[in-house]
Amino acid sequence: KVRIAGLHKFFGELHVLKGIDLTVQPGSVTVLVGPSGSGKSTLLRCINELETIDAGRVWVDGELIGMREVQRPDGTVQLHALTDKQRAAQRSKIGMVFQRFNLFPHMTALGNVIEAPIHVRRMDKQQARARGVELLERVGLGDRLDHYPSQLSGGQQQRVAIARALAMDPELMLFDEPTSALDPELVGEVLQVMQDLAADGMTMVVVTHEMGFAREVGDQLIFMDGGLVCESGDPVQVLDHPTQERTQAFLASVL
Ligand code: ATP
Ligand code: MG
Repeated sequence: KVRIAGLHKFFGELHVLKGIDLTVQPGSVTVLVGPSGSGKSTLLRCINELETIDAGRVWVDGELIGMREVQRPDGTVQLHALTDKQRAAQRSKIGMVFQRFNLFPHMTALGNVIEAPIHVRRMDKQQARARGVELLERVGLGDRLDHYPSQLSGGQQQRVAIARALAMDPELMLFDEPTSALDPELVGEVLQVMQDLAADGMTMVVVTHEMGFAREVGDQLIFMDGGLVCESGDPVQVLDHPTQERTQAFLASVL
């Protein structure tokens, strides 16, 4: 579903991703962990084109992200940038949920969920509403359709944000510390929605410090440090028997 090969990213002089190789199987959950500044958010942002890639390739569902390979008559391959329209089409297939809920404050829960389907996908309003209600019910908010973000708890807002991402029928969902801005008692309800989504077969890449989630829901755990994948594998294996010293030190600090 996702394949990353030799991905490098610079911010000016700062070399943030130093050759990331990664594969995410369809319908699987990949959990990304690592110290602050190790490049986790940047990696997610490269996958959904919020950042440009300086070297390497990213494929989602077999499609090269952000560029197009053109075979020349002499057999060599040239890379062409995608048009804005092609880029937007790719991005609309990738859902992203951030630490801060980023809901539109002047729209109701349902309004937030149906905004993109109507304005980006040009979906019929009735149809978008029906689907929006269904998605909000799925995240346990069927009774909060007409509430504004300010009238919802952080956990409820984050569940609206998940429903909103799902409204575009993504092939892939990216989560960047979706529970770290929440009060502790609200973390569980958001993780539960994510776990349900995983059980339904959604392909997910999740940056989180919730090691319980990593252990129970993750199919693969990736430990990043200094812009590189330091260790990866089965979550239970990596958590219980980390082989790298840096992984051991990190886990000791978060567990
Ligand atoms: P955290 O756990 O704190 O969220 P992270 O692993 O997500 O950390 P990134 O946000 O990917 O780390 O940042 C990696 C490095 O890139 C950091 O040194 C950060 O300061 C730098 N960085 C991130 N975004 C930018 C930017 N837009 N411009 C310049 N530097 C950036
Ligand atoms: Mg981050």
